[in-house]
Amino acid sequence: MNQKNDFKKYLFGAVKKREAKGGYHLNPKMLMAPFEGETSIAKYFCTGCGILTEVNETGAKVLAAQAGFSNLEKFNNIYFEVLRCPLCDEDFKDAKLKPII
Ligand SMILES: [Zn+2]
Repeated sequence: MNQKNDFKKYLFGAVKKREAKGGYHLNPKMLMAPFEGETSIAKYFCTGCGILTEVNETGAKVLAAQAGFSNLEKFNNIYFEVLRCPLCDEDFKDAKLKPII
């Protein structure tokens, strides 16, 4: 599956919902990959459906607001971890800011 396009497809209603089984863990090495999307500024990992994907500024603002983070210039060393995301639920849930180490 092409993760780069998943969020965009969701926005246009073309993607089937992923199942939120929960309990997924992120491979930290996957955070090191450069952004694939031209407008991507942040990444999120969903522990509900296991996807690691990118968001544009609009998505990043939603995640940042949930996580209580306001500095949109400093996404280089952080990513968001969410309990649920728009690909497996109605919206992002319980977004947390995590360092990329
Ligand atoms: Zn999800």
